[in-house]
Amino acid sequence: MISILERFRRWRRARRVDAVSVSDAMWIRAEARLPFLDYLEPEHRLRLRELARTFIAEKQFYGAHGFALTDEVIVTIALQACLPVLRIGLRAYRGWVGVIVYPGDFVIPRKVMDEAGVVHEYDDEVLGEAWEGGPVLVSWHDGEDAPEGVNVVIHEFAHKLDMENGEVDGLPLLPSGMSRKGWAEAFSEGYERFCRQVDAHAETVLDPYGSESPGEFFAVASEAFFEAPCLLQEDFPAIYGQLRQFYGADPAAGERRVYGEPPRDAGVDSP
Ligand SMILES: [Zn+2]
Repeated sequence: MISILERFRRWRRARRVDAVSVSDAMWIRAEARLPFLDYLEPEHRLRLRELARTFIAEKQFYGAHGFALTDEVIVTIALQACLPVLRIGLRAYRGWVGVIVYPGDFVIPRKVMDEAGVVHEYDDEVLGEAWEGGPVLVSWHDGEDAPEGVNVVIHEFAHKLDMENGEVDGLPLLPSGMSRKGWAEAFSEGYERFCRQVDAHAETVLDPYGSESPGEFFAVASEAFFEAPCLLQEDFPAIYGQLRQFYGADPAAGERRVYGEPPRDAGVDSP
């Protein structure tokens, strides 16, 4: 039996969610900005809308540097923020409320102390940032100035999941049935191979920024998982398999459903 207080909390939450109404036309407009949502199963798309509506009810959006937030921006960000929690649900994002949206890249002043104890101050130009127990900062790029092959919202919210069990180390809280050993093996092999590719200046499927640390690698792999799943599966099948279980979705199957099987050895003449 649930307590009166719990019943009150649920009622208040339901009232807040009821207060958010998103028209069909608005869903369609926001989703049209995110063509990779077509890789999801129909029931996942419906669940994503429900999660996004609750996300909008529970979080507070702020426009920074004079950025005027529109409903379309909020809905588009909420849909992407909820992709990583399709399976887990919004409990993974409890404990903080702010989503701060910047008009394009922004600068975070940093202070680091080197080994000699000297403090260096510099400005770090970033696309986004997630703070433990605090807000998520994301940049909004419209149309053509969007950086290619990067999804800043999925990236920062993947960090939020990674933080659920402490540090950003590339090991989020795994569901029962997944083994930490299997995760660690797939990700450490993939990370080392990826760092060698980046060091050799080879063309990579994932954003080279992922070679900064295992935590960044998990975040860029998560971006690719939803946006370019077939490429990720081809290059890092073990990582794709882990993320498929973790996120509870199989977007590569969806991408093949939408575009058909990718041609093998495309553009290479066989002798
Ligand atoms: Zn990052």
